[in-house]
Amino acid sequence: MAKQFNVALIGNPNTGKTSVFNQLTGLNQQVGNYPGITVEKKQGVCKLARGVKAHILDLPGTYSLNASSLDENVVIELLLNKNDKDFPEVAVVITDVENLKRNLLLFTQIKDLGIPTILAVNMADRMKRKAISLDIELLEERLETKIALISSRKNEGFDYLKELITNYKTLSVKPCLNASVIAPEYFDRLRKAFPNQDLYKLWLVITQDVNFGKLDRQEMSSVASFKTESISNLKRLQQKETIARYQFINGVLKETLTIDTANAKDLRSRLDRVLMHKVWGYVIFIAILMLIFQAIFDWSSYPMDLIDSTFASFGEWTKNNMPAGDFTNLIAEGIIPGLGGIVIFIPQIAFLFLFISILEESGYMSRVVFLMDRVMRRFGLSGKSVVPLIAGTACAIPAIMATRNIENWKERLITILVTPFTTCSARLPVYLIIIALVIPDQRVLGIFSLQALTLMFLYLLGFGAAIFSAYLLDKVLKIKSKTFFVVEMPNYKLPLFKNVAITVIEKTKSFVVGAGKIILAISIILWVLASYGPGNFNKASEIVQKQEIANNLTQVELDQKIASFKLENSYIGHIGKAIEPAVRPLGYDWKIGIALVSSFAAREVFVGTLATIYSVGSDEEETIKNRMAAEINPANGKPLFNFASGVSLLLFYAFAMQCMSTLAIVKRETNSWKWPMWQLFVMSAIAYVVALGAYQFLK
Ligand code: GDP
Repeated sequence: MAKQFNVALIGNPNTGKTSVFNQLTGLNQQVGNYPGITVEKKQGVCKLARGVKAHILDLPGTYSLNASSLDENVVIELLLNKNDKDFPEVAVVITDVENLKRNLLLFTQIKDLGIPTILAVNMADRMKRKAISLDIELLEERLETKIALISSRKNEGFDYLKELITNYKTLSVKPCLNASVIAPEYFDRLRKAFPNQDLYKLWLVITQDVNFGKLDRQEMSSVASFKTESISNLKRLQQKETIARYQFINGVLKETLTIDTANAKDLRSRLDRVLMHKVWGYVIFIAILMLIFQAIFDWSSYPMDLIDSTFASFGEWTKNNMPAGDFTNLIAEGIIPGLGGIVIFIPQIAFLFLFISILEESGYMSRVVFLMDRVMRRFGLSGKSVVPLIAGTACAIPAIMATRNIENWKERLITILVTPFTTCSARLPVYLIIIALVIPDQRVLGIFSLQALTLMFLYLLGFGAAIFSAYLLDKVLKIKSKTFFVVEMPNYKLPLFKNVAITVIEKTKSFVVGAGKIILAISIILWVLASYGPGNFNKASEIVQKQEIANNLTQVELDQKIASFKLENSYIGHIGKAIEPAVRPLGYDWKIGIALVSSFAAREVFVGTLATIYSVGSDEEETIKNRMAAEINPANGKPLFNFASGVSLLLFYAFAMQCMSTLAIVKRETNSWKWPMWQLFVMSAIAYVVALGAYQFLK
């Protein structure tokens, strides 16, 4: 079999690179990360004529080879390193026929590296409506390359593009620009110092912070001397390079491109007038957010309930049909619910990404960013952080995955770190039961229910904590990450179904395989801790039966008592008791301690755990509430759940990072354990301090 050759897809953001990649590779693609960084790496295989196959690497969208972000560094580092296994035999630069001028800058830079470079002019389907005409032959001549006019939307021109890729060896590798024109003297010196090196490559090595594999140590230090020469001088030369390139491009396009503006039927400006209106723009955006919120909160509850009951009955079935024993218990109570705990997130993730990818695809998202950016930037966030923060009110998992759209790494990291503060739906059952218990059922001013106001306050508190900590993180985090704010907006388009579907499938898959493993592992550990224990644990039924012999309990009541005894004596029970001294100052006892530890699986587990401990059925909320109300604090003989301990518990749940699934997804999205561990530590510390303060102040 012939060796596959490497093809790199390169282009400005929004030129349709992803769509071209999807057309070329179909589902033969693989998404991962570049080693050590969080930039997404997409690769796939494209079948060409005569059984030849090409390995296609979809490089991150970049505006030029003058790196200003992590994503762009990836592109430069690959193109400068011939030894990289992905180094392209041929580059395909994707451009948008409506933004050719800006897009061609990158094309000329890549061609000047001496890599055979095909120009793919995408969105050809729009040429007619926009009254654009392009003299392809002349443009090929001027740029000294081959051009494929394509439309990934209409699937047109791809056969020819594949043919060009197959025959890449016949392409000219002559540069567009003679690098020396930037600064003849300076380049003369460079040429003398490195007679065997390609000048433009050298120039990039000097101006960009990247490693250049081929230089030996001595040469490296001489390059360093060229580097330190004068930073501002280098910057000036870089600008000169850009200007020279644009001059060249302008000249070429003047001859080859004509746009008959008077005949363009332009819907875009009319839409923009409404969607970016000072008032209507926000109103429409809020309406769209509410729709998204409704979808992840409400609509997904149907499939989620279905998943929940399916896994429950599957667990039940396993228990009844497999030989009784530890192994069956592990499967029925540990692994199956653990898997269920992963699958249950799929509807929310799918809904959120369905909306996000439609918004992105349609071109609307760029308008939102423009609208929201000014507000959000003050807090170190991006206009695109709005969606994760809102989605976080349903669930932090899809919300954190949605931060992938934020290009700037610092803004993205801050958004990831603060999103778990927003009140997710798993906190709701906990809030409801505690509010019902400790907040009086009264009305303020005769209208507003005090309990409802408390709930609203908790939501606002979540948002407030997120925004405020974003502001602090922006000041504290020392991450260099320049923002290259491009004012140019993409056109409105009907979303491509294929792109939307691939996004949804891809995100769901990456959650299931990325974070799923960790969630499964932790749920099994938690299950083991709750289902096994030392000493008395194994004699639970005898002991309880003996204790209760006089009480004439029904079988159900007896089983509940046994379950409660078991939980108390399990490993998790011991942990709960061990942490009692730590949680006592917050107004809790060991039972709450156990519930706190076990709700790490998912916050809503809190209620179920208490139900088990109090030996009541978990679907009887009223009963749990009554049992909680009857709990006596042994220290003072008064009710354990008074206003002070209730508020303390509410605040604890508002701030604490008590969700292994969130930690798992943060690990996956930041590619390291460092950030989730920080999150766990800092959020728990805040929760502890706030709950402590509240209890001590109120008691
Ligand atoms: P990327 O940011 O460069 O990866 O671009 P995408 O593949 O995400 O595409 C950006 C937008 O252009 C999306 O809304 C696509 O639906 C749209 N698009 C992609 N190819 C074409 C095309 O050939 N014609 C038209 N009209 N739109 C396209």
